[in-house]
Amino acid sequence: MKATVIGSGFGGLAAAVRLIKKGYEVTILEARDQLGGRAGVFKQDGFTFDAGPTVITAPYLINELFELLDEDPKDYFKLLPIDPFYRIRFDDGSSFDYVGDEDRILENVAKLSPQDVDGYRKLAKHAQDIFDVGYTRLADEPFDSLSSMFRVAPDMIRLQNYKSVYSLVSKYIKDERLRQVFSFEPLLVGGNPMKITSIYLLIHWLERKWGVFFVEGGTTALISAFERLLRKKGAHIHMNASVERIEVENHSVKRAITADGRIFESDVIVSNADPVRVYRDMIDNKHRSKHSDLRLKMKSQSMSLFVAYFGTKKLYPDIAHHTVLMGPRYKGLLSDIFDRKVLADDFSLYLHAPTRTDASLAPPGHECFYVLSPVPNNDGKIDWEKAQQEYKDRIYHWLDKNYLPGLVDNMVTDVHVTPQYFEKELQSEKGAAFGIEPSFRQSAYFRFHNESEDVDKLYFVGANTHPGAGIPGVLNSAKVLEKVIPRC
Ligand SMILES: Cc1cc2nc3c(=O)[nH]c(=O)nc-3n(C[C@H](O)[C@H](O)[C@H](O)COP(=O)(O)OP(=O)(O)OC[C@H]3O[C@@H](n4cnc5c(N)ncnc54)[C@H](O)[C@@H]3O)c2cc1C
Repeated sequence: MKATVIGSGFGGLAAAVRLIKKGYEVTILEARDQLGGRAGVFKQDGFTFDAGPTVITAPYLINELFELLDEDPKDYFKLLPIDPFYRIRFDDGSSFDYVGDEDRILENVAKLSPQDVDGYRKLAKHAQDIFDVGYTRLADEPFDSLSSMFRVAPDMIRLQNYKSVYSLVSKYIKDERLRQVFSFEPLLVGGNPMKITSIYLLIHWLERKWGVFFVEGGTTALISAFERLLRKKGAHIHMNASVERIEVENHSVKRAITADGRIFESDVIVSNADPVRVYRDMIDNKHRSKHSDLRLKMKSQSMSLFVAYFGTKKLYPDIAHHTVLMGPRYKGLLSDIFDRKVLADDFSLYLHAPTRTDASLAPPGHECFYVLSPVPNNDGKIDWEKAQQEYKDRIYHWLDKNYLPGLVDNMVTDVHVTPQYFEKELQSEKGAAFGIEPSFRQSAYFRFHNESEDVDKLYFVGANTHPGAGIPGVLNSAKVLEKVIPRC
């Protein structure tokens, strides 16, 4: 039986592996000229810039995909542990090293705010309890009926998942800087810490439990590893193959047709592309009673990102691999991004310095970085054509003044992306960087289902499906897929 996978993000690649294991003949159609989706790469002037994800967590989810096809992951890629996981630097000059080891993290909490040590212990225990339910029991379970939602409701109430991440953290922690440290992580999956359900505190325990890693050679080396694995196991991979139409006959998918007219007959189609676009733009509306254009319009999209990638001829050995640079405002800035949807004058940034761990990503004596700024999605009316240069310069000068002295004079190459990249290049509705927003109204049963309710033999994986964005999320979505798709 022929399975066509549309899109080659981590979710699409993992789905392809699981479909091969199930006996399907797999074809991957990727619109771009490279695999990986958000985990793409920019190579420029001897520098390798991972475009997207760099924080690798829950490595077992990656290893098991290679093992599933009887291959040893060690023959394909190497994961390097990162310590500290993140360094968080505050506007007042103080900083916090977020690490996995219990004694060390308690020590670091004590250094910043001795009164919060006991509170952190309780917070970590609460995060672990949430993890035991929200991750261990539910991350790879299908949420395809309302009853599946009712079953977990008592646990959600007991674990206070009706509170936001920030509000639950604040129950245990008094120091505002530590409240930020333990609540910013939902931003990594596109959620507003002030609103997102506290289920997402499980990320904290997931990192403490399994650690944080970086792929030797960058995340792009992991995408290449998947490509090697899939080709070896017989997958057909087509790049520059943007699917424009899915044809349906007798309520069931029949074929995928690319923008340049290539036709791929399919017994099943698994889409890793944005489901809003797939339903609205690729499938005739007469086949869609559940996903009407109006319903799709009502989906709320996650935030977007402005990311600048740059190389320097100066070394900055004091900068940690992963640094979060907190600006002067937290709540106010989040409100500008998520509610008011305006480009703020200040920013909080994530700075990635991969040469701290793997010098091969830059020419000798050079460093490579990326700086990421959460910004409103294209529901905001920011004219990025006009705004981008000034915004980038503002970020570079702020970094030069506060964290990377001499940056502007020592920069030898750079490239950047705006929300337009997510909307046009990655074909994501409203330029959302993480798919639909992970609000309660759009989580679990209320997220896009892995099995289409409208069209038979149409399936979805990736950030828009349960459990959501982030590499562990999309790899788990492929595990859900495996449970709902028939063996052939
Ligand atoms: C800058 C950035 C940093 C991040 N950092 C981290 C991190 O450190 N750790 C972490 O765990 N997560 C991180 N994330 C989140 C994580 O990268 C994503 O949630 C995840 O990679 C999304 O995977 P996906 O399976 O949903 O597919 P995507 O990566 O969204 O890929 C979808 C693919 O479908 C293709 N496609 C779309 N339409 C079509 C079409 N019509 N025809 C053919 N192909 C099509 C696209 O070209 C793309 O290749 C980050 C995200 C971003 C943007």
